[in-house]
Amino acid sequence: LMLGPKYTSRGDEIGRLGHTFNEMITHLQEHDRKQRQFVADASHELRTPLTVIESYTSMLQRWGGNDPAIRREALDAIHSETRRLKSLIESLLKLAEFEREEQAMMEEMALVPLVRETTEQMEQAFNRDIRLTVSGVSERQRLLADAKKIKQLLIIILDNAIKYSVKPIDVTLADVSGFAELKIADQGVGVAEEDLPHVFERFYRVDQTRNRETGGTGLGLAIARQIVDLHHGTIRFDSKAGQGSTVTILLPWKTQSEH
Ligand code: ADP
Repeated sequence: LMLGPKYTSRGDEIGRLGHTFNEMITHLQEHDRKQRQFVADASHELRTPLTVIESYTSMLQRWGGNDPAIRREALDAIHSETRRLKSLIESLLKLAEFEREEQAMMEEMALVPLVRETTEQMEQAFNRDIRLTVSGVSERQRLLADAKKIKQLLIIILDNAIKYSVKPIDVTLADVSGFAELKIADQGVGVAEEDLPHVFERFYRVDQTRNRETGGTGLGLAIARQIVDLHHGTIRFDSKAGQGSTVTILLPWKTQSEH
């Protein structure tokens, strides 16, 4: 049911109701459209590795099994595409989790120890130099947050910095007018200006060939943004191609009135 302009232009109660109703419908239609697009994109992303696996297995079945070189190539391809599928499915499950969960596991948590612990773990796991600077923030300053998700957020951003750069990575944590400001800066390949507006979109990858090698799914930053939204914060991605990227995250500190 859509109320026509005859009603909405009158400015009376029914007209206003009709207007609100139309806006609601538009909102729902938009949500529905995005959902369909997402399912279509996800299906496409899942089908690609499956097609590769299917063709290599049928090649092995038909004749490749006897040739060691072909066997090797097929097994490598099947293995890497299987890993890719696995990581895609894990990311998709994480996204779905956010859509379901209205309320996250919010608790008081100290930010500095979590940032320190995570950067140290990533540094060791990937054998890379990650420099952490904390300025004007005490060890005890707290967020009202889901600690597991904040950690996941850090891992996503650090993982990208590691994937797309080779030089040391700088992490700074500061206090900016009531917000925790977290900056993760790399001196890596960067992102071209025309690609910048899209980096938070699901499945968006700047360079398909480059990213197939680095094993990205294009879902990391979409998940990062959902985590930030859940905590009423903001996330920004600044970059210059060939010079590096900086991700800036603002998260509100816990205030006295919050429980
Ligand atoms: P992916 O899993 O492909 O890394 P993301 O959603 O995390 O997906 O990032 C989307 C795209 O943004 C990446 O494919 C990459 O092209 C670009 N990107 C993200 N972080 C960086 C970075 N630190 N340096 C350069 N490019 C980046």
